[in-house]
Amino acid sequence: MVMAQPPIYLDNAATTPVREEVFEAMRPFFGPKFGNPSSIHSFGREARAALDEARERLATCLGAHPDEVSFNSCGTEGDNTAVLCLWRAMRDSGRNAVVTTPIEHKAVLAAAHEVAHEGGEERILDVDSNGVVVDASFDEQVRDDVAVASVMWVNNETGVIQDIPALAQRAKQRGVAFHTDAVQAFGKVAIDARTQPFDLLSISGHKIGAPKGIGALFIRRGTAFEPLIRGGSQDRGRRAGTENLAYVVGLATAAELAVAEREQHWKETEHMRDRLQALLLAAIPDAVVHSRGAQRAPHVLNISVPGTDNESMLMALDLRGIACSGGSACQSGSVTPSHVLSALGVAPALANAAVRMSFGPINTEADVDRVAEVFPKLVAKARSMAAA
Ligand code: PLP
Repeated sequence: MVMAQPPIYLDNAATTPVREEVFEAMRPFFGPKFGNPSSIHSFGREARAALDEARERLATCLGAHPDEVSFNSCGTEGDNTAVLCLWRAMRDSGRNAVVTTPIEHKAVLAAAHEVAHEGGEERILDVDSNGVVVDASFDEQVRDDVAVASVMWVNNETGVIQDIPALAQRAKQRGVAFHTDAVQAFGKVAIDARTQPFDLLSISGHKIGAPKGIGALFIRRGTAFEPLIRGGSQDRGRRAGTENLAYVVGLATAAELAVAEREQHWKETEHMRDRLQALLLAAIPDAVVHSRGAQRAPHVLNISVPGTDNESMLMALDLRGIACSGGSACQSGSVTPSHVLSALGVAPALANAAVRMSFGPINTEADVDRVAEVFPKLVAKARSMAAA
């Protein structure tokens, strides 16, 4: 009897499984350590100590002071908070604009739209055909009437990396607060708030082996900030609400592991990604790898095959036990071309063919071999059906 092969998960940019070490670190907080960190009795003090320790551990991972770490529910909340809270705190001081890029996650773009809705100005920077921010556009748009500039570190659809330390430095020279969405960057690129002059940085737990529903925002000391959530003194009044302690501990644990393993993880994923890319391009010479001409984080491979569409490809891959995505998770299932690929100037038909394969620690070379074998066959089948 032929044994069914286990499914291959190639959607690590959408989410990752919770790591065993993270789960174990969280476990006591679902049991005996259930106290509320704001309570003054022994249960509360125990919880407070765990919260403080987790904050310190995450701060160390970011090169930050513990009081610069604000825990929240997810990357989306961090992005919304960074843009809206900065702008609302600054709008009366003559800084009424926010600047961002067309390739941001919708969490940033929607927050920038909200700024425009509330009477501010939203400016979108130019990017080149790889999705890299055009320097001249940054210098032109980031002026002394800007409250916050927000540029993502690593793009979730293409993996393209922006030179965040340099952009943050240029913003700083203009007195403009700088936010970066580091949801896909944390654990991939080196992040250090001591040497890199960003003012705000958002991360999300479920991209690095912590559960869904936990994230954090780095807020540099002295940064103007108007809270989004009010009604309690938690987190020094920056985010009211009883802390999700178990998940906070999980995030700190996952972050430490991600930082410790970062370089090794980069090497391993880069090797797998590059090998799969080479094998697919050899088998399908007219396939297009998006952002191939720029520096990319190694966990993302976004490939379009002319004459196919990603909805059918994703379904066919899924039937063969291979889980990929058509772009960001919230867009999968939609036939609207990705706003990221559109911003790169990719034609709609090619954008609608894009399949994103994203690697994580759970993947192996055997996964690469199987995808390299299956994917070209599915392409040939799709093309022959289209020709019939
Ligand atoms: N920013 C980027 C670049 C992302 O990839 C994602 C999730 O896909 C988010 C923000 C949103 O994070 P979360 O799912 O934690 O809300």
